[in-house]
Amino acid sequence: MSEIVRTLPARLDIVIPAYNEQECIGEMIDALHQGFQVLGDAIALRVIVANDGSRDRTEAIVAEKARTHNVLCVSLTRNFGHQAALTAGLDHADGDAVIMMDGDFQHPIETAIDMVRAWLGGAKVVLGQRNMKGKLPLMKRVTSDGFYQLFNMLSETKLVTGVPDFCLLDQAVLKVMQSLPERHRFLRGLVAWSGYELTVLPFPVTDRRAGSSKYGMRKMVQLALDALFSFTTSPMRVMSRLGLASILGGLFYFVYVMARYFFVGDLIQGWASVVVLVLVLGGIQLVFMGVMGAYVARTYEEAKGRPLYVIDKVIEGSTKSS
Ligand code: UDP
Ligand code: MG
Repeated sequence: MSEIVRTLPARLDIVIPAYNEQECIGEMIDALHQGFQVLGDAIALRVIVANDGSRDRTEAIVAEKARTHNVLCVSLTRNFGHQAALTAGLDHADGDAVIMMDGDFQHPIETAIDMVRAWLGGAKVVLGQRNMKGKLPLMKRVTSDGFYQLFNMLSETKLVTGVPDFCLLDQAVLKVMQSLPERHRFLRGLVAWSGYELTVLPFPVTDRRAGSSKYGMRKMVQLALDALFSFTTSPMRVMSRLGLASILGGLFYFVYVMARYFFVGDLIQGWASVVVLVLVLGGIQLVFMGVMGAYVARTYEEAKGRPLYVIDKVIEGSTKSS
């Protein structure tokens, strides 16, 4: 493993998206500052709260904490959604590493500390993975499992199952995230897409400490759609395949009908030609829609503006003459 030279203390930013979290956020900031003391002087902690248009006392509580703790509050004008809030927080982070975690104690502080330990040991990306033995509601478990399976089937970028937006990113990975201009963001996917080696830490599932979930069914479906649409174009290719199947079906049917005509001769006049025409013409249309889809997919790839590659390191030979 490469040698890590880092000035002490290392700067760690913890980004917390918060939408109407007045019951939890103050306690969370205290608990983080207290919990991270176990790492002693190794870490200088800053908590970045991305206040996602809360209409309760979240901002006032965070501002109050900022007097005594190293806290940055980034308040958005309205509720832009979890992924946008996380992005706002990441854009304001500049530590040697950054952790994203929820503000309701569902992502344990002990796991966050273990993530930092793994990072100090050389890991670049550390993901928290829900330990399914915990008490995730059945509905959420089924929809979440189904989603990960569908995503991994359709997308070239593969997700680790049961990994929410609870992770640590090294500064190098943070910079990649900050450089991505795309609008419909699915951060888990983008972290996986960045290609860095992933270290996975399981954590137990617990109920949120107070308040209620801000992720209704509508927001969850929206996130799943954003994820699928921004990481897959394969559904478009299905059109061409269906079209080809239809043309082939039409041609086979034509051969079958001709054979019957010559050898049996029991056909209804006009029926066969209509069926063959419908199948072949329908097929041709689908194939061309697929071709158009391929152009649309490429335009979409360009519009996302993701970089073509991410460089890990460059090693240069020392053959230069002095
Ligand atoms: N959140 C947010 N904006 C939203 C919805 C949620 O910033 O529009 C935050 C929320 O305050 C919490 C985190 O995202 O810190 C996860 O949300 P929640 O706990 O409600 O989701 P669940 O754990 O129920 O899936
Ligand atoms: Mg929660």
